[in-house]
Amino acid sequence: MSKKFEHDIVPAYTPWQDTTPGGIVTESGNANYFKTGDWRAMRPIWNADKCKQCLLCYPVCPDASIIIKDKKMTGIDYDHCKGCGVCVKTCPFGAFDFVPECE
Ligand code: SF4
Ligand code: SF4
Repeated sequence: MSKKFEHDIVPAYTPWQDTTPGGIVTESGNANYFKTGDWRAMRPIWNADKCKQCLLCYPVCPDASIIIKDKKMTGIDYDHCKGCGVCVKTCPFGAFDFVPECE
């Protein structure tokens, strides 16, 4: 059982003095608390009509941002998708467009 520490969850903009000693990560899975989607410069757009549900995009996403429900691809978690484009390159059916975030 993991012990809970005061700094298990470090809010954004926390000064370095208030982070854990040595920057230790004390809780697994805590990346989920940080909405890394605002780092994105490029945005993958999923086209459901072209998707063949092969699910090849799911394991290659480094941010677990491909949303699967009932064993089907249903969309992209834009709160965490960093816009790396790996899913776009991987999809054999051209089911993603990849556009600048500002569009
Ligand atoms: S790789 Fe392409 S076709 Fe396969 S599930 Fe993902 S979006 Fe759909
Ligand atoms: S662009 Fe990168 S982070 Fe975003 S859904 Fe595709 S593989 Fe995941």
